[in-house]
Amino acid sequence: MINGYLGTRTSVMMQRAFFGRSLLLAQQAAVGLDSPLAPRSAPLLQRLERPMSSVTIPPPACMLRPLEVPMRYLFGPGPSNVPPRILAAGARQIIGHTHTEMYEIMNDIKKGIQYAFQTENHMTIAMSGSGHAAMECAVFNTVEPGESVLISINGIWGERVAEIAERMGANVHRMVKTPGGYFTNKEIEQAIAKYKPVLFFLAHGESSAGLCHPVDGIGDICRKHNCLFLVDTVASLGAAPIFMDKQNIDILYCGSQKALNAPPGTAPISFNDRACHKMFNRKTKPVSYLFDMTQLSNYWGCDGKPARVYHHTGPVSGFFALREALAILAEKGLEESWKKHKEVAAYLYRGLEDLGLKLFIPERDLRLPSVTTIAIPDGYDWMGLLTYIMKHHQIEMTGGLGPSVGMVMRIGLMGYNCEKTNADLALHALEDALKNYKKRRA
Ligand code: PMP
Repeated sequence: MINGYLGTRTSVMMQRAFFGRSLLLAQQAAVGLDSPLAPRSAPLLQRLERPMSSVTIPPPACMLRPLEVPMRYLFGPGPSNVPPRILAAGARQIIGHTHTEMYEIMNDIKKGIQYAFQTENHMTIAMSGSGHAAMECAVFNTVEPGESVLISINGIWGERVAEIAERMGANVHRMVKTPGGYFTNKEIEQAIAKYKPVLFFLAHGESSAGLCHPVDGIGDICRKHNCLFLVDTVASLGAAPIFMDKQNIDILYCGSQKALNAPPGTAPISFNDRACHKMFNRKTKPVSYLFDMTQLSNYWGCDGKPARVYHHTGPVSGFFALREALAILAEKGLEESWKKHKEVAAYLYRGLEDLGLKLFIPERDLRLPSVTTIAIPDGYDWMGLLTYIMKHHQIEMTGGLGPSVGMVMRIGLMGYNCEKTNADLALHALEDALKNYKKRRA
């Protein structure tokens, strides 16, 4: 039976020639050493080695060393440390991406996302890719070349979405504030009335500036002006309240690696009926095949068709981990998670102020609970401080990103890392760095 499945000894030799030692070792492990497939003698091994002589590029030395991953406290804006339970889920043996059980797991993920987003949208899936995949999916599917879009920019993420929209040929209009600034509903409505966009983008959690933007009322303005409301919650989901349905958000996405605590590489996204109407009544096909929602909606069983057809091979282990992350959030409860992030952030703010540091966002209610931004203290080289902290405390904190570079240092305490004890570790490391890392100038 095993022979029938894996082939004869000759075919094993051919496979050996093609795939090298790892396949043979895997087969050995799979069939047992006493199997007829296992090499029994040195001469056989030598014969099996012979086809390797045609290899002119030797195996790289680094590949012959074991994988080394240092233990780090990930207290930056993400990814965050992954709890053992989620790591264990991702380490399970995989199944086929089109197996019934996999579809069940994907259905569970969909329900978990609906809870996390507070939506009943049927068109709710997880992208095979990071937060950027969801950004591109949202724009590529709902906007056609030449259409007008309006992007609010108060940090890096709006600018990134603007670039994505420009690349696919949209007519992009930008509303810009310095990092940490926010837009009033009046400003938003005036700009929407002026540019008549088909889509308006807002980052709920602007992680480069540490700002949590108010959302109430914007969805209604968008409806009034027949514009879709797209919101980025990559850095805020699970840490600050968001209600997709109640707040009339048409498209919402997040990432897996922040407060959700799964490894990076999957990105939940949801479209409501307005968004579906726009994206499934297009004149042109979306520029991306991989991110085409007509295909993805079938892969995720959202299109009402009886059969799911192969589209791409989803990241099976990533989906296992994401399911576990969403399960933990469901068990804990959204309200509890929001409360915890707020409490730990408040504790961190107090500690930072006690160290004489200034928070970058002055209005407490506008601070993003998952990512706290500190104004760079006078006379300090921020990069030197962060390097010192990494070297002496194995803690990752980061500087700004895009327009906030040189303005802020960022501490992220999210999900699993969102604990007062971790805030203490971060504060202790900062205190040490401020004391012992030399100032650049007096
Ligand atoms: N949006 C926001 C608000 C983010 O913080 C990030 C990641 N830092 C992204 C989008 C992009 O996500 P990813 O790096 O997973 O592609």
